[in-house]
Amino acid sequence: MLQMKLCGDLVLREKCAPVDDITPEILKNMDEMVQMMRDQNGVGLAAPQVGVTKRFLVMMEPDSGKVFKMINPRITSRSPDTVVMEEGCLSVLGADDLPVYANVSRPAVVSVEWTGVDGKKYAAEMSGIMARIVQHETDHLDGILFVDLLPAAKREMVMRKVRRRK
Ligand SMILES: [Zn+2]
Repeated sequence: MLQMKLCGDLVLREKCAPVDDITPEILKNMDEMVQMMRDQNGVGLAAPQVGVTKRFLVMMEPDSGKVFKMINPRITSRSPDTVVMEEGCLSVLGADDLPVYANVSRPAVVSVEWTGVDGKKYAAEMSGIMARIVQHETDHLDGILFVDLLPAAKREMVMRKVRRRK
């Protein structure tokens, strides 16, 4: 049974290793991650968030409920125009055990390549909420949390709420 890793756990700061082999264990992890994401009303979950330092993630299109399972995802281009959207993270919880939200500025449109669970290569251009989710989740694979992208004063405000949980 996988466990959610929370802000402060150093596993969230590791740079994850590429997946060479799509093992049954990885597929099982991804199924379990989809379940955890749904249980906690999340829209994405990356492997290090459950303590696995490998490059894979799951995410869900909020409107359609369509689930993406991405292995070795890579953002190959980012639009110069940025957009501000509210973000939270299942690893960054406040005193009420719910995610702490903050506005984050990121590129509005990105191109993404990944390997599917069938071993095939996929590519897509994503905008709106999907661009947001895929950037947040691929950041996790490089040990980056959304709070890192906030201006110092705003980050401190979020981290104060996180610390209050302990
Ligand atoms: Zn996250």
